[in-house]
Amino acid sequence: MTSYTAPVAGSHSEEGTFYRNCRAAYVAVFRSSLVNISSKEELCLVLQQAGRNPSRKVLGKYWTPRTTKLNFDDFCEILKKEKPTEESDLIKAFRTIDLNSDGYVTHSELFKVLTSRGEKMSPEEVNRIFSVADTSQNGTGDHSKIGRLVIGQNGILSTPAVSCIIRKIKAIGGIILTASHNPGGPNGDFGIKFNISNGGPAPEAVTDKIFQISKTIEEYAICPDLKVDLTTIGKQQFDLENKFKPFTVEIIDSVESYANMLRNIFDFAALKELLSGQNQLKIRIDAMHGVVGPYVKKILCEELGSPANSAVNCVPLEDFGGHHPDPNLTYAADLVETMKGGEYDFGAAFDGDGDRNMVLGKHGFFVNPSDSVAVIAANIFSIPYFQHTGVRGFARSMPTSGALDNVAKATKITLYETPTGWKFFGNLMDANKLSLCGEESFGTGSDHIREKDGLWAVLAWLSIIAARKQSVEDILKEHWQKYGRNFFTRYDYEEVDSDSASKMMKDLEAMMLDRAFIGQKFSVGDKTYTVERADNFEYSDSVDGSISRNQGLRIIFSDGSRVIFRLSGTGSAGATVRLYIDSYEKDPQKIYQDPQVSLGYNCLESKLIHCL
Ligand SMILES: [Mg+2]
Repeated sequence: MTSYTAPVAGSHSEEGTFYRNCRAAYVAVFRSSLVNISSKEELCLVLQQAGRNPSRKVLGKYWTPRTTKLNFDDFCEILKKEKPTEESDLIKAFRTIDLNSDGYVTHSELFKVLTSRGEKMSPEEVNRIFSVADTSQNGTGDHSKIGRLVIGQNGILSTPAVSCIIRKIKAIGGIILTASHNPGGPNGDFGIKFNISNGGPAPEAVTDKIFQISKTIEEYAICPDLKVDLTTIGKQQFDLENKFKPFTVEIIDSVESYANMLRNIFDFAALKELLSGQNQLKIRIDAMHGVVGPYVKKILCEELGSPANSAVNCVPLEDFGGHHPDPNLTYAADLVETMKGGEYDFGAAFDGDGDRNMVLGKHGFFVNPSDSVAVIAANIFSIPYFQHTGVRGFARSMPTSGALDNVAKATKITLYETPTGWKFFGNLMDANKLSLCGEESFGTGSDHIREKDGLWAVLAWLSIIAARKQSVEDILKEHWQKYGRNFFTRYDYEEVDSDSASKMMKDLEAMMLDRAFIGQKFSVGDKTYTVERADNFEYSDSVDGSISRNQGLRIIFSDGSRVIFRLSGTGSAGATVRLYIDSYEKDPQKIYQDPQVSLGYNCLESKLIHCL
C-alpha cells in the first residue's frame, strides 16, 4: 500500500497525526513549539489554525484572569478537549442557512449569519471570503463544489499528465484510478490516488480527513442513467435534478496539455535533430502496455521523429498484457534483452501510470535511478527550463544513494533529504526551495509538476545526450570520475514474521544508538568503513511543520557510505524489511567495477547481521 492511500480503520497513527496537526497549527502562528502563548488573542488565533472556532466562553475556560502563559503541551491538552467541528455538523449548519434547500446559500443569507451570530465578522471580511468561495461568480456558494469533471479521452491519463492538468485548470484535486507499478486487471491490484490542488499526492492530513468523513457518510446517490461518452472530445452537460446546476463533464485529449508543457521545458528542435537527423540516436522505448504508450507515440515518434518501431507495447491494456508494469531489470526483462543486442543506443521503460522510469544505455548498460537524478543535476542546464528558472535546490528520499549529494556539494546547491513519498518534495517545491528530485525506486522529477514524471526523465536524458554528444555509458563514466561513485543496492525481505521483524529492528536500534557503536570499523576486502553516525531518521517539514518519525535506521560511515534498514507493512500478511547499501568509492581504478561483485555487499551485510 502506498503512502498516499487512505489508512485503514483502527490505524495506530491517529495519535501521531493528532500531534502533527497540533504542531502544524502552532508553528503557523509561532516560530516554534518552544514559544509560549502569551495572550487570549494568541490562544484564539492558534485554536483557529487548528480548525476550531472557540467562543468567548471556551476561551475564558482556558485563559482565566490569572493565566499569564500557556505552552505547546497545554495547547495539545486543550485541543484534546475541544473536538473539531465534524463535516456532518457543517452540513447540518449549512442546511439551516440554506432556507429553500437547493444546495446553495445566497450572499445575503450568509452575510446575515456571519455578521450577526457567534464571533461576528465585519462586512469587509465576509465580502473577501465570498469573493474566493463564489467560483461560479453567480452570487451563490455551494457546499458541493464539484460541478465539472475533466476526464482524459477513453479514460486514459498518465499520473504526470493529471498533475499537469490539475495545475493548468486550477482544479481542486484529481482522482487517479491505477495499480501504478503493480499487476492490474480483474485478478490484480486496483488503487485510487487522490491528488490535491497543487497537483501532488494528498498529504496525510487530507487522507486522514477523507477517512474520517467516510465514517460519517449517511447516504449517497447514483445516477444509473447518466451515460458519459468517453470517446468524444468536448463538453457534455447533465441535469442532475437541480442539485449541481448543470453538471459538466469535459473529455479532453489525453496527451495535448502534457505535451505542450514538455514543449516549453525542452528544446524540441534539438531533440528532433537527435532522434531523426543525421547520426540519429536509435532508441527503444517500452511502454509496458501502461498508459504512457499514447504519450510516447505522439511525442517521441510523431513529433520528435523517432521511427515507429522504436516504441513497443504502446497500446494500454487493462491487465498490462498479463505483465508486471514495473520498470526495473526484473520486470522489463524483454527490453534489457533487446538492448543487450547492441542495436539501440538508448532504452527506457515506464510503469503502469507513467510516473516511474528506467534508463538503459547501449548493450543494456543500466543507469541506477540514484545515479540518474545525479547526472541530470550535474547537467541540469542542458534543459532550457532550468536556464529560465535557475536551480533552487536538489532533493532525494532518504534511502536514495548519496550520488546527488556529491553534485549538490560541488555546485553549492542546497540538498534536502526527505522521507519516501513525493508529497515531501511537493511541499518544498511549493515553497520555491526545490527544482530537481529523485527516489531510488525509479522516480525522477522536477518542479514542473508535483509528481514524478517518467517521460520527462527520458527527455531530460535525451537533452543531456544531445548536449554532450556522448553515449549513456560514457556520460556515467565521466560523472563517476568527477564525483566518485555510489555503489547502491537494495534487498527486500518480504512477508517475514511481523513480530520477529519488529524485534530485529528494536535490537538493531538499541545497538546502533549505543555510544560504543560510533567509531566501530567494518572491513570488506581492502576497504574499511568506520561508523560516524547512527540514528533513526526523522524529518521535520520546514514548510507545513509536520514531523515524520521512525523513517528508517541509518548507519552513516565516515566516507559518506551508508547502510539503511527500513521496516514496512507490519500487517497480517507479514512485514517487509528493506536493506539499502550505499557505498562510496572515489578511487578511479575501482569505480567501473560491477556493483554486485565490487563491494562484497553480502559480505558487509552478513558482518552487520553477525554483529547483531
Ligand atoms: Mg506509478
